[in-house]
Amino acid sequence: MPDTTAVIEELTVANRILAHEGVLDMFGHISMRHPHNPERYLMSRSRSPEVVESADILEYTLDSEPVKAPTARLYSERVIHGEIYKMRGDVMAVCHNHAPAVMPFCVTGKPIVPVFHVGAVIGGEIPFWDQHDEFGNTDLLVVKPEEGRSLARALGPHSVVLMRRHGSTVVGGGLRELVARSILLCHNATYLLQALLIGTPQPLYPGEIGPAGEINLRPGVLARTWEYWSTRLKTSGGLPPPATKASRPTKPTARRGKAKRRR
Ligand code: MN
Repeated sequence: MPDTTAVIEELTVANRILAHEGVLDMFGHISMRHPHNPERYLMSRSRSPEVVESADILEYTLDSEPVKAPTARLYSERVIHGEIYKMRGDVMAVCHNHAPAVMPFCVTGKPIVPVFHVGAVIGGEIPFWDQHDEFGNTDLLVVKPEEGRSLARALGPHSVVLMRRHGSTVVGGGLRELVARSILLCHNATYLLQALLIGTPQPLYPGEIGPAGEINLRPGVLARTWEYWSTRLKTSGGLPPPATKASRPTKPTARRGKAKRRR
């Protein structure tokens, strides 16, 4: 059984990695299914992912209600996560984002297809979901359970769904897989857009997408990508503070001459 504290710490690091790599900004969120209870999921309170700490992570039912009475504001688009976990038993982690790299595709409806070998992790087909089709004029936030269900239906068996004029939602069979897919979706979208500027993109052959996607999600590859992205986060000074009890005073660190300048 995985240690819940360690799992929460990893989810906190995942929040910050996705912010540091440009997938999430002040908005967007990432969740994971509870390691001990598939009817629950873990996600931060309403806070920008770049500054999320372990103490911010809360437990939710699959109806996206907090298990304990909240003392803080919650993300309004929680149903995206809960309704996908209900519909997709294989999904262990979900990321909803408004990543700049995918937005040109969300606003034009031009499909994102894998255009380089590692980009195959996004899958061969990325469906579009337009909230207006079913719900007419809304504020475009996915807040009602029926809106979350509609999005989950549009996702279907795929790994990514693009949301017209809004962003995207990415799913994974594990947290590290989700982090890799979310970042590589952005890389792939960037390369595709750049390729459109200078020529005609040549997507992967349909028969290449399965093998190339599979090999890039093997545990050894995910360990390597996680190490890379978490080291970049650490180097930037963006690692979360260690999850210590609030009552424990912070130990002063004596630094002589080598005080690191913080951004
Ligand atoms: Mn959103």
